[in-house]
Amino acid sequence: MRENAYRNLSAKLRGSVITPGSGEYEVARRVYNGMIDRRPDAIVRCADVVDVTTVVNFARNEDIAVAVRGGGHNGAGLGVCERGFVIDLSLMKGVLVNPVTKTIRAEAGCTQADLSHAAHDFGLAVPLGVISSTGIAGLTLGGGMGYLTRKYGLTVDNLLEANLVLADGHFVTASAAQNPDLFWAIRGGGGNFGIVTSFLFRGCPVAQVFAGPMLWEMEHARELLEWYREVAPAQPEELCGIFAFLKVPPGRPFPEELHGKTMCGIVWAYCGPLDLVEEAFRPVRKFREPRFELMTSMPYPALQSMFDAIYPPGLQWYWRGDFFGQISDRAIDEHLKFGEQVPTLHSTMQLNPVDGAVGRFNRHDTAFSYRDAKWSMVIVGVDPDPANAEKITAWTKNYWAALHPYSLGGAYVNFLMDEGIDRVKAAYRDNYDRLLKVKRKYDPANFFRINQNIRPD
Ligand SMILES: Cc1cc2nc3c(=O)[nH]c(=O)nc-3n(C[C@H](O)[C@H](O)[C@H](O)COP(=O)(O)OP(=O)(O)OC[C@H]3O[C@@H](n4cnc5c(N)ncnc54)[C@H](O)[C@@H]3O)c2cc1C
Repeated sequence: MRENAYRNLSAKLRGSVITPGSGEYEVARRVYNGMIDRRPDAIVRCADVVDVTTVVNFARNEDIAVAVRGGGHNGAGLGVCERGFVIDLSLMKGVLVNPVTKTIRAEAGCTQADLSHAAHDFGLAVPLGVISSTGIAGLTLGGGMGYLTRKYGLTVDNLLEANLVLADGHFVTASAAQNPDLFWAIRGGGGNFGIVTSFLFRGCPVAQVFAGPMLWEMEHARELLEWYREVAPAQPEELCGIFAFLKVPPGRPFPEELHGKTMCGIVWAYCGPLDLVEEAFRPVRKFREPRFELMTSMPYPALQSMFDAIYPPGLQWYWRGDFFGQISDRAIDEHLKFGEQVPTLHSTMQLNPVDGAVGRFNRHDTAFSYRDAKWSMVIVGVDPDPANAEKITAWTKNYWAALHPYSLGGAYVNFLMDEGIDRVKAAYRDNYDRLLKVKRKYDPANFFRINQNIRPD
């Protein structure tokens, strides 16, 4: 009976329905986080908006749970479900750059690499994240932060419009002029309200950047963090510095004596005029000389993919985060303790700057609430070997528990694992009640529930 229904569905699609009997199934059900092992009843690969509408109507009528997949990078694995359907948008990769209006329309199956590649040719960029294989859909709907954020804001701060298929199958546009309540909610509220089929972004004038990592020995970590918390936020918004604890990858260009060594560092990215690079880095150069550095000018898409090779799909991931308004001396004590214990080669802790342009919005202007934060911390336990899953998870949880008391109380929604409703509420603070109202209007039956869920009940 179900097989028949799937065949009927398949006949209506330009895309395809991949079921457990299909040769593609084992690959198609995988997401980026190798820790996630779920078996949906079908993966429906949509080729266009009509496919999305068709599968939404089908799933709703048949009472089938759906997970929505953009780039499949969600740490908690929300792009796949056990049983139910995965609505997979990865075939929908169209990008249209308008050089006159300096806007970029991108379909929801694009990765950051897809969008940045197309926009770069026109000297434009959208502030996105730091690994280019991440999907723009999940990233944008949670807020979106990265190297350009201090200067140009979050990804959602550059979102002008989105097209969505709602739970009832209607196709709508959300913008400041059309369905403004929905537009407010999707700028941080995740996939709770409908399936975005395309985004319209404002392009920012970014082509070449000057960027790269500087690393110091752990014995200088306290001095570095004390310096970083004062100096980095005081710099012009063109200069972004992501602080990290890490183990040095065992390969070129890193010197052999540093391979596998735990170090502290800052990944810098400067997006201002290149003839002013020296001036921009003058305050940085006043700090102790790094043990290793690799700073150079490069196209923005190259920066965005600089760490891709270290983080291929399929590794085990467990992460946790929180926003911070300051880095207190007590917080530094805890950072030093856990930074020394980075458990595996791929594990890290990062402080992503979210000051500057992000704070030009009021915390009620968008669903994304933490406009008062200076850093979004993410503690990331990563390893290829499933046998180390417990080890990386324990380090992450313990590190997070030690730092949480010094945080602003909640995390970036895209850095949440399956942490329960209170953590979802804490991600939105007093925006949660308004999100609830929008959810009750656009998805009262909670059809879109495989996400960091705003529960309408
Ligand atoms: C290696 C790595 C690096 C990262 N770096 C950054 C970073 O620098 N900055 C940052 O901000 N974030 C970063 N993230 C977090 C990232 O934003 C989230 O993991 C995000 O969920 C990824 O989006 P996706 O489309 O790939 O996710 P998916 O797993 O495909 O989807 C995640 C969820 O998003 C929702 N969703 C996806 N597509 C749609 C759609 N079209 N319509 C409605 N809902 C949809 C669904 O609820 C789904 O459950 C990183 C993640 C990883 C794994």
